[in-house]
Amino acid sequence: MPKLVIIGSGPAALTAAIYAARAELQPVLIASSVQIGGELMNTTDVENFPGFPEGIMGPDLMERIQAQAEKFGTEVVYDDVTDLQLSADKKIVQISSGKQYEADAVIYATGSEYRKLGVPGEDKLAGYGVSWCATCDGAFFKEREIAVIGGGDSAMEEALFLTRFASKVYVIHRRDSLKASKIMQRRAFEHEKIEFVWNTELVSIDGENSVVGVTMRNVETNEESQLPVQGVFVAIGNDPRTHLIHGQLELTGVGTIQTDGRSSKTNIPGVFAAGDVIDATYRQAITAAGSGAAAAIDAEHYLAALEDSKE
Ligand code: NAP
Repeated sequence: MPKLVIIGSGPAALTAAIYAARAELQPVLIASSVQIGGELMNTTDVENFPGFPEGIMGPDLMERIQAQAEKFGTEVVYDDVTDLQLSADKKIVQISSGKQYEADAVIYATGSEYRKLGVPGEDKLAGYGVSWCATCDGAFFKEREIAVIGGGDSAMEEALFLTRFASKVYVIHRRDSLKASKIMQRRAFEHEKIEFVWNTELVSIDGENSVVGVTMRNVETNEESQLPVQGVFVAIGNDPRTHLIHGQLELTGVGTIQTDGRSSKTNIPGVFAAGDVIDATYRQAITAAGSGAAAAIDAEHYLAALEDSKE
Protein backbone atom coordinates (compact mmCIF):
# COMPACT_ATOMS: atom_id res chain seq x y z
CA MET A 1 0.00 0.00 0.00
CA PRO A 2 1.33 3.48 -0.81
CA LYS A 3 2.35 5.87 1.94
CA LEU A 4 0.95 8.77 -0.04
CA VAL A 5 -1.93 9.10 -2.48
CA ILE A 6 -2.24 12.31 -4.51
CA ILE A 7 -5.62 13.13 -6.02
CA GLY A 8 -5.67 15.37 -9.09
CA SER A 9 -3.61 15.86 -12.22
CA GLY A 10 -3.06 19.60 -12.69
CA PRO A 11 0.12 21.54 -11.88
CA ALA A 12 -0.47 21.25 -8.11
CA ALA A 13 -0.97 17.48 -8.05
CA LEU A 14 1.84 16.69 -10.49
CA THR A 15 4.32 19.02 -8.80
CA ALA A 16 3.45 17.43 -5.45
CA ALA A 17 4.18 14.09 -7.16
CA ILE A 18 7.60 15.28 -8.39
CA TYR A 19 8.59 16.35 -4.88
CA ALA A 20 7.12 13.29 -3.16
CA ALA A 21 8.69 10.88 -5.64
CA ARG A 22 12.09 12.53 -5.27
CA ALA A 23 11.65 12.13 -1.50
CA GLU A 24 11.21 8.39 -2.21
CA LEU A 25 7.62 8.29 -0.98
CA GLN A 26 6.58 6.35 -4.13
CA PRO A 27 3.34 8.28 -4.50
CA VAL A 28 0.30 6.99 -6.31
CA LEU A 29 -1.44 9.76 -8.24
CA ILE A 30 -5.10 9.23 -9.13
CA ALA A 31 -5.36 11.39 -12.21
CA SER A 32 -8.92 10.97 -13.59
CA SER A 33 -10.33 8.69 -16.25
CA VAL A 34 -11.24 11.53 -18.59
CA GLN A 35 -8.47 14.04 -19.04
CA ILE A 36 -5.18 14.30 -17.20
CA GLY A 37 -3.50 17.68 -16.92
CA GLY A 38 -6.20 19.91 -15.47
CA GLU A 39 -7.24 23.26 -16.83
CA LEU A 40 -4.06 23.86 -18.83
CA MET A 41 -5.17 21.12 -21.22
CA ASN A 42 -7.78 23.58 -22.50
CA THR A 43 -5.29 26.42 -22.88
CA THR A 44 -3.23 27.37 -25.88
CA ASP A 45 -0.10 29.47 -25.33
CA VAL A 46 1.10 29.76 -21.76
CA GLU A 47 3.26 32.88 -21.79
CA ASN A 48 3.87 33.38 -18.09
CA PHE A 49 5.26 30.07 -16.83
CA PRO A 50 8.91 30.72 -15.92
CA GLY A 51 11.51 29.01 -18.07
CA PHE A 52 9.65 29.28 -21.37
CA PRO A 53 10.45 32.73 -22.81
CA GLU A 54 8.91 31.79 -26.16
CA GLY A 55 5.77 30.41 -24.45
CA ILE A 56 4.59 26.81 -24.32
CA MET A 57 1.29 25.16 -25.21
CA GLY A 58 -0.70 24.18 -22.09
CA PRO A 59 -0.90 20.45 -22.97
CA ASP A 60 2.87 20.35 -23.72
CA LEU A 61 3.65 21.89 -20.36
CA MET A 62 1.49 19.34 -18.54
CA GLU A 63 3.02 16.46 -20.48
CA ARG A 64 6.48 17.58 -19.39
CA ILE A 65 5.46 17.96 -15.73
CA GLN A 66 3.89 14.49 -15.79
CA ALA A 67 7.01 12.98 -17.40
CA GLN A 68 9.09 14.56 -14.63
CA ALA A 69 6.80 13.09 -11.95
CA GLU A 70 6.93 9.62 -13.54
CA LYS A 71 10.68 9.76 -14.03
CA PHE A 72 11.13 9.76 -10.25
CA GLY A 73 8.71 6.90 -9.66
CA THR A 74 5.19 8.30 -9.41
CA GLU A 75 2.56 5.72 -10.32
CA VAL A 76 -0.16 7.46 -12.34
CA VAL A 77 -3.58 5.81 -12.19
CA TYR A 78 -6.05 6.85 -14.90
CA ASP A 79 -9.22 6.51 -12.91
CA ASP A 80 -11.64 8.58 -10.82
CA VAL A 81 -11.89 8.70 -7.07
CA THR A 82 -15.44 7.80 -6.07
CA ASP A 83 -15.16 7.91 -2.28
CA LEU A 84 -12.76 9.11 0.36
CA GLN A 85 -12.65 8.18 4.05
CA LEU A 86 -10.17 10.49 5.67
CA SER A 87 -10.84 10.55 9.41
CA ALA A 88 -8.96 7.40 10.52
CA ASP A 89 -5.16 7.06 10.57
CA LYS A 90 -5.33 5.02 7.36
CA LYS A 91 -6.96 7.12 4.66
CA ILE A 92 -9.13 5.09 2.31
CA VAL A 93 -9.29 6.14 -1.34
CA GLN A 94 -11.83 4.27 -3.44
CA ILE A 95 -11.58 4.46 -7.22
CA SER A 96 -14.20 3.58 -9.80
CA SER A 97 -12.53 0.32 -10.91
CA GLY A 98 -13.39 -0.97 -7.43
CA LYS A 99 -9.80 -0.84 -6.21
CA GLN A 100 -9.15 0.71 -2.80
CA TYR A 101 -5.97 2.36 -1.56
CA GLU A 102 -5.08 2.69 2.11
CA ALA A 103 -2.52 5.43 2.64
CA ASP A 104 -0.96 7.21 5.59
CA ALA A 105 -1.29 10.57 3.86
CA VAL A 106 -3.36 12.14 1.10
CA ILE A 107 -2.76 15.27 -0.95
CA TYR A 108 -6.03 16.59 -2.34
CA ALA A 109 -5.46 18.74 -5.43
CA THR A 110 -8.53 18.38 -7.61
CA GLY A 111 -8.57 21.94 -8.95
CA SER A 112 -11.69 23.81 -9.87
CA GLU A 113 -14.54 23.59 -12.34
CA TYR A 114 -16.17 26.12 -14.64
CA ARG A 115 -18.78 28.33 -13.01
CA LYS A 116 -22.22 28.42 -14.57
CA LEU A 117 -24.40 31.48 -15.12
CA GLY A 118 -27.56 29.78 -13.91
CA VAL A 119 -29.78 31.35 -16.58
CA PRO A 120 -32.54 29.61 -18.55
CA GLY A 121 -31.22 27.88 -21.67
CA GLU A 122 -27.68 27.37 -20.33
CA ASP A 123 -28.04 23.69 -19.40
CA LYS A 124 -30.42 22.81 -22.23
CA LEU A 125 -28.12 24.27 -24.90
CA ALA A 126 -24.81 23.11 -23.38
CA GLY A 127 -23.00 21.46 -26.29
CA TYR A 128 -25.48 23.03 -28.73
CA GLY A 129 -23.92 26.46 -28.86
CA VAL A 130 -23.16 26.98 -25.17
CA SER A 131 -19.59 26.17 -24.18
CA TRP A 132 -17.04 26.79 -21.42
CA CYS A 133 -13.97 26.08 -23.55
CA ALA A 134 -12.99 28.03 -26.66
CA THR A 135 -10.00 25.84 -27.45
CA CYS A 136 -12.28 22.77 -27.35
CA ASP A 137 -15.25 24.14 -29.30
CA GLY A 138 -14.15 27.34 -31.06
CA ALA A 139 -13.63 25.67 -34.45
CA PHE A 140 -17.36 24.86 -34.64
CA PHE A 141 -18.10 28.58 -34.94
CA LYS A 142 -16.46 29.55 -38.23
CA GLU A 143 -17.89 32.82 -39.54
CA ARG A 144 -20.50 32.85 -36.74
CA GLU A 145 -21.28 35.59 -34.26
CA ILE A 146 -20.47 34.68 -30.68
CA ALA A 147 -20.96 36.11 -27.20
CA VAL A 148 -18.37 35.67 -24.46
CA ILE A 149 -19.58 36.31 -20.92
CA GLY A 150 -17.19 37.67 -18.28
CA GLY A 151 -14.63 40.37 -17.65
CA GLY A 152 -11.56 38.52 -16.37
CA ASP A 153 -8.48 37.08 -18.05
CA SER A 154 -10.36 33.93 -19.02
CA ALA A 155 -13.01 35.91 -20.89
CA MET A 156 -10.36 37.95 -22.73
CA GLU A 157 -8.42 34.80 -23.59
CA GLU A 158 -11.55 33.08 -24.87
CA ALA A 159 -12.64 36.14 -26.86
CA LEU A 160 -9.22 36.59 -28.47
CA PHE A 161 -8.96 32.90 -29.34
CA LEU A 162 -12.46 32.89 -30.84
CA THR A 163 -11.56 35.72 -33.24
CA ARG A 164 -9.67 33.05 -35.23
CA PHE A 165 -13.00 31.51 -36.21
CA ALA A 166 -15.86 33.89 -35.53
CA SER A 167 -16.88 36.82 -37.70
CA LYS A 168 -17.70 38.82 -34.56
CA VAL A 169 -17.18 38.34 -30.82
CA TYR A 170 -19.27 40.29 -28.30
CA VAL A 171 -17.90 40.41 -24.76
CA ILE A 172 -20.83 40.89 -22.42
CA HIS A 173 -19.78 42.11 -18.99
CA ARG A 174 -21.87 43.14 -16.00
CA ARG A 175 -19.63 46.12 -15.14
CA ASP A 176 -18.18 49.10 -17.02
CA SER A 177 -14.58 47.99 -16.53
CA LEU A 178 -12.67 44.74 -16.75
CA LYS A 179 -11.00 42.61 -14.12
CA ALA A 180 -8.55 41.19 -16.67
CA SER A 181 -4.84 42.07 -16.67
CA LYS A 182 -3.83 45.20 -18.60
CA ILE A 183 -2.06 43.29 -21.36
CA MET A 184 -5.11 41.10 -22.03
CA GLN A 185 -7.42 44.14 -21.90
CA ARG A 186 -5.29 45.97 -24.43
CA ARG A 187 -5.23 43.03 -26.83
CA ALA A 188 -9.02 42.70 -26.63
CA PHE A 189 -9.70 46.43 -26.98
CA GLU A 190 -7.45 46.62 -30.02
CA HIS A 191 -9.03 43.67 -31.82
CA GLU A 192 -11.33 44.71 -34.65
CA LYS A 193 -13.63 41.67 -34.28
CA ILE A 194 -14.29 42.22 -30.56
CA GLU A 195 -17.07 44.50 -29.35
CA PHE A 196 -17.83 45.11 -25.68
CA VAL A 197 -21.33 45.22 -24.24
CA TRP A 198 -20.95 46.91 -20.85
CA ASN A 199 -23.09 46.90 -17.70
CA THR A 200 -25.04 43.99 -19.02
CA GLU A 201 -26.02 40.60 -17.68
CA LEU A 202 -27.70 37.67 -19.38
CA VAL A 203 -31.34 36.97 -18.73
CA SER A 204 -31.48 33.84 -20.89
CA ILE A 205 -29.79 31.94 -23.68
CA ASP A 206 -32.33 31.46 -26.42
CA GLY A 207 -33.00 28.70 -28.92
CA GLU A 208 -34.75 25.34 -29.13
CA ASN A 209 -32.13 22.96 -30.56
CA SER A 210 -29.23 25.38 -30.88
CA VAL A 211 -28.37 28.88 -29.73
CA VAL A 212 -30.04 31.62 -31.79
CA GLY A 213 -29.38 34.53 -29.46
CA VAL A 214 -29.29 35.88 -25.93
CA THR A 215 -31.63 38.07 -23.94
CA MET A 216 -29.70 40.68 -21.96
CA ARG A 217 -30.51 43.26 -19.29
CA ASN A 218 -28.69 46.54 -18.82
CA VAL A 219 -28.05 46.66 -15.06
CA GLU A 220 -28.27 50.47 -14.95
CA THR A 221 -31.44 51.03 -16.95
CA ASN A 222 -33.01 47.58 -16.41
CA GLU A 223 -33.81 47.59 -20.11
CA GLU A 224 -33.92 44.20 -21.82
CA SER A 225 -32.70 43.54 -25.35
CA GLN A 226 -31.89 40.66 -27.67
CA LEU A 227 -28.62 39.91 -29.40
CA PRO A 228 -28.60 37.33 -32.21
CA VAL A 229 -25.54 35.07 -31.73
CA GLN A 230 -24.96 31.41 -32.57
CA GLY A 231 -22.57 30.67 -29.73
CA VAL A 232 -22.20 31.59 -26.05
CA PHE A 233 -18.91 31.03 -24.23
CA VAL A 234 -19.21 31.34 -20.45
CA ALA A 235 -15.96 32.51 -18.82
CA ILE A 236 -16.97 33.81 -15.40
CA GLY A 237 -14.47 32.00 -13.23
CA ASN A 238 -14.25 28.67 -11.48
CA ASP A 239 -15.35 27.02 -8.27
CA PRO A 240 -13.15 24.67 -6.23
CA ARG A 241 -13.93 21.01 -6.82
CA THR A 242 -14.65 19.82 -3.29
CA HIS A 243 -17.58 17.37 -3.59
CA LEU A 244 -15.50 14.38 -2.46
CA ILE A 245 -14.52 15.94 0.85
CA HIS A 246 -17.76 17.63 1.93
CA GLY A 247 -18.47 16.92 5.58
CA GLN A 248 -14.88 15.82 6.15
CA LEU A 249 -12.61 18.79 5.49
CA GLU A 250 -13.36 22.30 6.72
CA LEU A 251 -14.09 24.85 4.01
CA THR A 252 -13.62 28.62 3.95
CA GLY A 253 -16.41 31.13 3.31
CA VAL A 254 -15.63 31.10 -0.42
CA GLY A 255 -15.76 27.32 -0.66
CA THR A 256 -12.05 26.53 -0.77
CA ILE A 257 -10.51 24.01 1.66
CA GLN A 258 -9.36 25.62 4.90
CA THR A 259 -5.66 25.15 5.54
CA ASP A 260 -3.55 25.96 8.56
CA GLY A 261 -1.86 29.31 7.89
CA ARG A 262 0.51 29.18 4.94
CA SER A 263 0.78 25.40 5.13
CA SER A 264 -1.21 22.82 3.19
CA LYS A 265 -2.45 21.12 6.37
CA THR A 266 -6.21 20.61 6.56
CA ASN A 267 -8.21 19.99 9.73
CA ILE A 268 -7.44 16.24 9.47
CA PRO A 269 -3.87 15.13 10.26
CA GLY A 270 -2.29 13.46 7.25
CA VAL A 271 -4.57 15.20 4.76
CA PHE A 272 -3.07 18.06 2.76
CA ALA A 273 -4.59 20.26 0.07
CA ALA A 274 -2.99 22.19 -2.79
CA GLY A 275 -3.75 24.29 -5.85
CA ASP A 276 -7.09 25.81 -6.84
CA VAL A 277 -8.98 23.90 -4.12
CA ILE A 278 -7.27 26.10 -1.52
CA ASP A 279 -6.77 29.26 -3.56
CA ALA A 280 -9.51 31.58 -4.73
CA THR A 281 -7.10 34.47 -5.27
CA TYR A 282 -4.08 33.73 -7.45
CA ARG A 283 -5.11 30.63 -9.39
CA GLN A 284 -2.08 30.51 -11.68
CA ALA A 285 -0.29 27.42 -12.96
CA ILE A 286 2.85 28.59 -11.20
CA THR A 287 1.15 29.28 -7.85
CA ALA A 288 -0.61 25.92 -8.04
CA ALA A 289 2.73 24.23 -8.73
CA GLY A 290 4.27 26.03 -5.74
CA SER A 291 1.37 24.99 -3.57
CA GLY A 292 1.81 21.36 -4.70
CA ALA A 293 5.49 21.50 -3.74
CA ALA A 294 4.54 22.82 -0.28
CA ALA A 295 1.98 20.02 0.18
CA ALA A 296 4.54 17.35 -0.69
CA ILE A 297 7.02 18.81 1.80
CA ASP A 298 4.31 18.95 4.50
CA ALA A 299 3.33 15.35 3.72
CA GLU A 300 6.97 14.25 3.85
CA HIS A 301 7.41 15.83 7.31
CA TYR A 302 4.17 14.24 8.52
CA LEU A 303 5.18 10.77 7.28
CA ALA A 304 8.65 11.10 8.80
CA ALA A 305 7.13 12.01 12.19
CA LEU A 306 4.76 9.06 11.87
CA GLU A 307 7.68 6.70 11.23
CA ASP A 308 9.55 8.16 14.22
CA SER A 309 6.53 7.66 16.48
CA LYS A 310 6.44 3.94 15.57
CA GLU A 311 10.05 3.36 16.61
P1 NAP B 1 -12.04 36.00 -12.54
O1 NAP B 1 -10.76 36.75 -12.60
O2 NAP B 1 -12.63 35.68 -11.22
O3 NAP B 1 -13.10 36.80 -13.41
C1 NAP B 1 -14.41 36.36 -13.51
C2 NAP B 1 -15.19 37.43 -14.28
O4 NAP B 1 -16.50 36.92 -14.50
C3 NAP B 1 -15.31 38.74 -13.53
O5 NAP B 1 -15.21 39.80 -14.43
C4 NAP B 1 -16.71 38.64 -12.92
O6 NAP B 1 -17.36 39.87 -12.83
C5 NAP B 1 -17.45 37.82 -13.95
N1 NAP B 1 -18.54 37.05 -13.31
C6 NAP B 1 -18.46 36.24 -12.23
N2 NAP B 1 -19.65 35.67 -11.97
C7 NAP B 1 -20.50 36.17 -12.90
C8 NAP B 1 -21.88 35.99 -13.17
N3 NAP B 1 -22.63 35.16 -12.43
N4 NAP B 1 -22.42 36.66 -14.20
C9 NAP B 1 -21.66 37.48 -14.98
N5 NAP B 1 -20.36 37.69 -14.78
C10 NAP B 1 -19.78 37.05 -13.75
O7 NAP B 1 -11.93 34.58 -13.29
P2 NAP B 1 -11.04 34.18 -14.55
O8 NAP B 1 -11.13 35.19 -15.62
O9 NAP B 1 -11.44 32.77 -14.82
O10 NAP B 1 -9.56 34.20 -14.00
C11 NAP B 1 -9.23 33.44 -12.83
C12 NAP B 1 -7.74 33.54 -12.55
O11 NAP B 1 -7.00 32.89 -13.58
C13 NAP B 1 -7.25 34.97 -12.48
O12 NAP B 1 -6.26 35.05 -11.49
C14 NAP B 1 -6.66 35.20 -13.84
O13 NAP B 1 -5.66 36.18 -13.84
C15 NAP B 1 -6.10 33.81 -14.17
N6 NAP B 1 -6.03 33.61 -15.63
C16 NAP B 1 -4.90 34.06 -16.25
C17 NAP B 1 -4.79 33.93 -17.63
C18 NAP B 1 -3.55 34.43 -18.30
O14 NAP B 1 -2.65 34.90 -17.62
N7 NAP B 1 -3.45 34.35 -19.60
C19 NAP B 1 -5.82 33.36 -18.37
C20 NAP B 1 -6.97 32.95 -17.71
C21 NAP B 1 -7.08 33.09 -16.33
P3 NAP B 1 -17.07 40.91 -11.66
O15 NAP B 1 -15.81 41.59 -12.09
O16 NAP B 1 -18.28 41.74 -11.65
O17 NAP B 1 -16.91 40.07 -10.40
